[in-house]
Amino acid sequence: MVGWLFRAHGELCASHPWEVIVTTLTLALCMMTVDQRPVGLPPEPHVECGWKNNCVGPEDYNAADVIVMTLIRCVAVLYSYYQFCHLHKLGSKYILGIAGLFTVFSSFVFSSSVIKFLGSDVSDLKDALFFFLLLIDLSKATVLAQFALSSQSQDEVKHNIAHGIAMLGPTITLDTVVETLVIGVGTLSGVRRLEVLCCFACMSVIVNYIVFMTFYPACLSLILELSRSGRSDWPTWHDKSRIMQALHEEEKPNPVVQRVKVIMSAGLMLVHAHSRWSFASEGEELPVVNLVNGDSAMTSNSTNDVLLQGYILKWLTMSADHIVILILLLALAVKFVFFEVKDDLTKMRWPGSFARTHSRVLAAEGWVEVSNHPQAEDTVVVPTEHKSVQTDQDEPISQTSSCGLLEEESNDALTPCLAPEDRSVEECLAIYQSEAGARALTDSEVMMLITHNHIPSHQLEKAVGNPERGVCIRRKFLNRTAKLNDALTHLPYQHYDYSKVMGACCENVIGYMPVPVGVAGPLLLDGCLVHVPLATTEGCLVASTNRGSRALMRCGVSSRIVADGMTRGPVVRFPNISRASEAMLWMQESQNFEAIQDSFNSTSRFARLSRIHIRVAGRHLFIRFVAKTGDAMGMNMLSKGTEVALEFVQETFPDMEVLSLSGNFCTDKKSAAVNWIEGRGKSVVCEAVVPADVVRSILKTTVQALVDVNISKNLIGSAVAGSIGGFNAHAANIVTAIFIATGQDPAQNVGSSNCMTLMEPWGSDGRDLYVSCTMPSIEIGTVGGGTVLPPQAACLEMLGVRGANKRCPGENANRLARIVCGTVLAGELSLMSALAAGHLVKSHLQHNRASVRISVSEPGCSAVCNDKS
Ligand code: NAP
Repeated sequence: MVGWLFRAHGELCASHPWEVIVTTLTLALCMMTVDQRPVGLPPEPHVECGWKNNCVGPEDYNAADVIVMTLIRCVAVLYSYYQFCHLHKLGSKYILGIAGLFTVFSSFVFSSSVIKFLGSDVSDLKDALFFFLLLIDLSKATVLAQFALSSQSQDEVKHNIAHGIAMLGPTITLDTVVETLVIGVGTLSGVRRLEVLCCFACMSVIVNYIVFMTFYPACLSLILELSRSGRSDWPTWHDKSRIMQALHEEEKPNPVVQRVKVIMSAGLMLVHAHSRWSFASEGEELPVVNLVNGDSAMTSNSTNDVLLQGYILKWLTMSADHIVILILLLALAVKFVFFEVKDDLTKMRWPGSFARTHSRVLAAEGWVEVSNHPQAEDTVVVPTEHKSVQTDQDEPISQTSSCGLLEEESNDALTPCLAPEDRSVEECLAIYQSEAGARALTDSEVMMLITHNHIPSHQLEKAVGNPERGVCIRRKFLNRTAKLNDALTHLPYQHYDYSKVMGACCENVIGYMPVPVGVAGPLLLDGCLVHVPLATTEGCLVASTNRGSRALMRCGVSSRIVADGMTRGPVVRFPNISRASEAMLWMQESQNFEAIQDSFNSTSRFARLSRIHIRVAGRHLFIRFVAKTGDAMGMNMLSKGTEVALEFVQETFPDMEVLSLSGNFCTDKKSAAVNWIEGRGKSVVCEAVVPADVVRSILKTTVQALVDVNISKNLIGSAVAGSIGGFNAHAANIVTAIFIATGQDPAQNVGSSNCMTLMEPWGSDGRDLYVSCTMPSIEIGTVGGGTVLPPQAACLEMLGVRGANKRCPGENANRLARIVCGTVLAGELSLMSALAAGHLVKSHLQHNRASVRISVSEPGCSAVCNDKS
C-alpha cells in the first residue's frame, strides 16, 4: 500500500514535470516574498529574530562556539569532497549535473525561501548550509538518476522514476524522520549558535526531502525528455537488471536497522516532547537578540564596551574560521588537481570495496558501466580497486588497473574469501541461481562461490555473463590462492575481444600477451611487393630480414607450391598380421579408397582426401590420411574426416581396433622424417638470382664466400648433426615470427621450419648468386584457429590473405605459405652473409643489447623458493 502510494506519487511527478516544477518554484517565490507584517505598517527597525527567540548576538561568540562551528564546517567540507570524488568516479556529467542541480536548488532556493517565510534572516543560512552538506546523501539521488537513465524511452523514464520512488520513498521518509529528530537534539544543546543552526538544519532536511520527492523527479523526467529529443545516441546505463537488483536491495531494507530507527524515533520524540515543554516554560526568560545587524536588543546592562568587544571578537573568530576553511578547501583542491589520478577516476568503474563499505545500495552499484567503451554492447562489470594505478614514470602504465592485483585481497592470500561485508554463501548462491545471476554479486562473493565449488573457475566468463569481468575475477582468485604477489600486474587483460577467444583459442584466460610486431620488406615475391609482419622479441631478426628483402628487390623471388596435403595418421590394431595386411590391401584398392574418400569428404565442404599412406608394424597399421583443406591449416578437419573414415573401414573390418586417432605418423608438432620426405601442409619452393654487385653492396660479402659457408654450415654441418629438415641457417626464426603475427598454431613451427637452403654461383661467369629454399611441410591457414583474432587478422589483411578465398578456396593459404618461404629466403640470405662476413656478433650486440638494462633477479631465485623459505 505504502509502495503503491509512493509509486503513484512518483508517476505524477514524472509525467507532469512542468506542473510540479512551476508549482514548487512558485511556492518558493511566494514564501520568499511574502510580507509577514500587516499591510500599511512600517517595517520594524529590529525584527525579532526567527526561530522564536533563538537568536545569537556578539556576546554568544565564545570559544566553544567557534571551535564547534569550525569543526562542523571542516567535516562538512571533507564530506562534500568525499561525495564529489564518489560522484566523479561515476564518470557521468549527467549524474554530476543532475545531482549538483538538485543540491543547489534544494539548499539555497528552497531552504532560503522557507527561512524567509518563517521570518528569520537568510544570511544565517550560510552556516546552516554546512550542516546541510553533512546531511545530504547524493547516493539516493544517484540511484534514482541511474534508474531513469537506464530507460530506453520517455514512457519508460516515467515508469522507472515511479518505480524508483516507490522503492526509495519509504526508506527516505523514515531516514528523514530520524535525521530531523537527531539533529533536533542539537536545538537542546545549550550552545546557542548550535541551537539555531540545528533548527536550520532540521528544516533543510525536511525541505530536502520534499524536494527529492517532488522537484527532483520532475527535473529528472524533464531533463531526460529534453536531452533525448533529437538525439538517438543518448547514453543509457545498461543492464537494468542490476539496477533492479539495487532497488530490490532498497525494497528490502534491513529489518533490524529499520526497527532500531523506529525505536530511536520514538525515544527522540519523547526527549523532544519533554524538553520542549520545559524549554517553552523557561524560554520566556531568555534575552532577545537581533540577528540581522548583530547589535543588541538586550537589557539595560549592555554597554558600548561590551558591544565593541563583541564586534572585535566576532570579526576575529569569523576571520579565523574563514582562514581554516579556506586552507582546507585549498588543500583539497591541490590534492584533487595534483594527486588524484584522473585516468583512474574516469576509466575505472565502481570500486567494489567502496561500494561494499558504503551501503547495500551502493554495493549493488558496483556494476555500473561508466566508460564509453565503443564495443560495450553489454555493461562492462568490473568492480575495481583503484589502488593499482602505476604512477612511476619509469614504468609503463599498466592496463591492469582494475584487476591489477595490487588490491587489498592480494595480501590476504589463502585467507577465507568471506569479508565482513560479504553476504553469506547461501545468500550468494541463491542470488547466483536466481535470474539476477552472478552479475549481482561482488567479485569477492563470486570468488567465495568458486572456493565453495559452486562456480567452476573455468566457467567464470559464462557465470558472470561478461568475459572481461570473468577474466578479472580469475586473476584476483589466482593471485590470492597461488600467492602471486601481484605478479600479473603487467599482464594486460582489458579491451580485448574475448568473445573470439572463448571456446576457440584459449581457456582459463587471465589476459593476453602483447608481442612486438615488426615489419620486413617490401619483399618482391612473384612480381608483387609484400610487407611482412614479424612478431618477435629477438632483436636483429626484423632488421636482418629487412636487409635480405632489400637485397632481393632487384631480382625478386619466385615461388611455387609443389604439394598440398594436411595429414592425420591414426594407429589401428588387428588380431594378427594377416588381418592387418588384408585390411591394408583392401584400403589400397581403388574402389575401396574411393568409398573411404566419400565418407571422409562428407565431413567438410573443403576437406578433400587425396591419398592414404599405410605402414604396417606387426599387427598394427599406421594409416596416414592426406587431404587438401582449402584455406584452413586443417588439423581439426583432418581429425573429423579420419574418424568417420575409420568408422567406415570398421564396417568391413569389425575386428579393427582404433587405438588412437593420432598415431604419431601424422606427424604433428614433432620432428619427423616423414614430413621432411613426404611433405605436410604446403610444400613450397622458392628461388632468386642475386646480382654480384648487390651481394657486395648490400650483403657486404662475396658470392664465393656465401656458397662456401652454405655448403659447410647448412649441408655438411647439419649432416654431421644428424639433422632432419634442418639444412638451413634460421628458417624457424622467420616461420615462428610470421606464425605468431598471423594467428597460426605456433607449435607447428617444428615441422613448418623444415627447410633446405641451397646456394651456388650463377651465370656464365659464375659471378652472381643462385639461392633457393625448399620447405616441404608448412602447416598454415588463413581461416580457423588464431586467425580469427582481430590483431592476427589485421596482419593477414596486411598481406592480402585474410580469411577464406571465396573465388578459389585454398588460394589464400597457398599465398601465405609462399610468403613464408620467400621471407625465409630473405632471412637466410642476410644471416648467411653476416656469417660469411664475420658480422654476426657485432650486429647482434648492436640490435640485441642496445639500450636494455638486463634486470637481475633477486637473490634467492623464484617466488616458490621464497615461499618455502
Ligand atoms: P577449424 O577452424 O577447426 O576448421 C576450419 C573451418 O572453417 C571449418 O568449419 C571449415 O568448414 C570452415 N571454412 C570456411 N571456409 C573455408 C575455406 N575456404 N577453407 C577451409 N575451411 C573453411 O580449423 P582447422 O584448420 O581444421 O584447425 C585449426 C585448429 O586446430 C587450430 O586452432 C589448431 O591450433 C588446432 N589444432 C588441432 C589439432 C587436432 O589434433 N585436432 C592439432 C593441431 C592443431 P567445414 O566445416 O565445411 O570444413
